Amino acid sequence: MNHVFPPAAQVVLHVAGREALFPVRRVYCVGRNYADHAAEMGADTREPPFFFSKPADALVPGGGDVTYPPMTSNLQHEIELVVALGKGGSGIPADQALECVFGYAVGFDLTRRDLQSRAKDKGHPWDMGKGFDQSGPISDVQPVAVVGHPGNGAIWLKVNGELRQSGKLAQMSWKVAEVIANLSNYVCLAPGDLIFTGTPAGVSTVVRGDVLEGGVEGVGELKVRLV
Ligand code: MN
Repeated sequence: MNHVFPPAAQVVLHVAGREALFPVRRVYCVGRNYADHAAEMGADTREPPFFFSKPADALVPGGGDVTYPPMTSNLQHEIELVVALGKGGSGIPADQALECVFGYAVGFDLTRRDLQSRAKDKGHPWDMGKGFDQSGPISDVQPVAVVGHPGNGAIWLKVNGELRQSGKLAQMSWKVAEVIANLSNYVCLAPGDLIFTGTPAGVSTVVRGDVLEGGVEGVGELKVRLV
């Protein structure tokens, strides 16, 4: 294939216990999917799910060092269960949606909260608050074939060893199957799509030098250092 410049590399995630890599297509995120986090953001907790995106190349596979982003003085962490799709479709019924899941990962939805808050106030898009470079550290994918579907596991995040976020997946307002079904009404989902499924309460501001460690019981852990 002839290109006017070399095409960007395909973004890939490691799959636990396998040689083959998971090729990422799109990265969707659910806003406010835990009632306690919606409440701390001052939002109605019974709203239907809504979605935003991060660019696939904003992912930081495996975590590690993440450069503190420009244009913010309020960077915040959100620990999330990430769904990795192996099948897609449109109008997927909730009772068939889990069949689309290849596996699960642990992700940090890093957020420039000051930019997001300003965007909310003005009715502007969230992209610059949410979809910036290195805004999506993510762990290896654990295949459903090995770990099954996480039910009521713990989800937690520590900053410099101090617990900041601690919840249960069962607190999700919209369960994984409902999230997939709802999102597939808006867009055609495809293999390689990731869905960050929202965060429990306890989001807080982090600064250069901070170490963020988080995990989802039965899925894995992720560690990032802000440099
Ligand atoms: Mn989030």
